[in-house]
Amino acid sequence: RMAALVASWSGPGQTADGRHVSVLANVADGTSARTAMKYPVEGVGLFRTELAFLDRSDAPSVEEQTGLYREVLEAFPGQKVVIRTLDAGSDKPLKFVTQLDEANPALGVRGNRIAGEHPDIRTAQLDAIAAAAQGREPIPWVMAPMIASAAEAAEFAAPVRERGLVAGVMVEVPAAAILAEAILAEVDFVSIGTNDLTQYTMAADRMSAELAALTDPWQPAVLALIARVARAGQEVDKPVGVCGEAAADPLLACVLVGLGVTSLSSAPAAAAAVGARLAQTTTDQCRAAADAALATSDPAAARAAATAALES
Ligand code: PEP
Ligand code: MG
Repeated sequence: RMAALVASWSGPGQTADGRHVSVLANVADGTSARTAMKYPVEGVGLFRTELAFLDRSDAPSVEEQTGLYREVLEAFPGQKVVIRTLDAGSDKPLKFVTQLDEANPALGVRGNRIAGEHPDIRTAQLDAIAAAAQGREPIPWVMAPMIASAAEAAEFAAPVRERGLVAGVMVEVPAAAILAEAILAEVDFVSIGTNDLTQYTMAADRMSAELAALTDPWQPAVLALIARVARAGQEVDKPVGVCGEAAADPLLACVLVGLGVTSLSSAPAAAAAVGARLAQTTTDQCRAAADAALATSDPAAARAAATAALES
């Protein structure tokens, strides 16, 4: 029966009692955005802009970037699109900015931190996003990766807002989750990157197959940080999304909604399963599943507790 529900689910995302939760796609370029549009998604929750430039040795011009961003915006006319500024470094080195001799690249000059040495690169990117967004409704949301402090969030938000765009940051460093209230005071929205938040919370490399039991987003320590951020968002009525692959797991999606997360973005092929599952689940059941998972101390117990809560 669930398979038929998944096959026929066409959005928009909502719980059984009608609470809206945007189900969104993660994309990398115009081609992947046009493919994503064929799935039942309501827009783009994460446009990973760095992926288009992985093989480049020189920085792309403003014109070239404008064309790329416009292509993605045009694939989703009238819909929400969240563009992330370059997340260069670590698992995604960009030759024109990344220092290749860093001892610990995951803890190095990664993501928004490249703007310290290369302010021109971020300026060019924001100019290109603003040019691509000219006259578009709704206004694209722009967020920075690897934000660790409220000061960084404020420093990023200023030039984004100057260009008439909506400013947010990713929460993927535990410090940003712990000080979520201070971060949220500086921006219009946040999006939790559970891939990196799990990596940094558990001190376990997300690329290591050997450490897969640790890099599991069902780790209750990770859920506790997500709960903290979602609560802080509810207090000030600002959106708190999840854009890591945790959002592709239908059971975990129910838990995330129960924690107070307002949008779910992942590989678009996961959208129908997530949407169909949410449509079968009330907000109260989501909350019960979230509470049950939070009360455990390991991922297997968290999964079992969430499953049991949804069945009762
Ligand atoms: C994340 O870290 O969860 C995320 C969405 O960003 P990326 O996977 O691109 O690092
Ligand atoms: Mg990340």
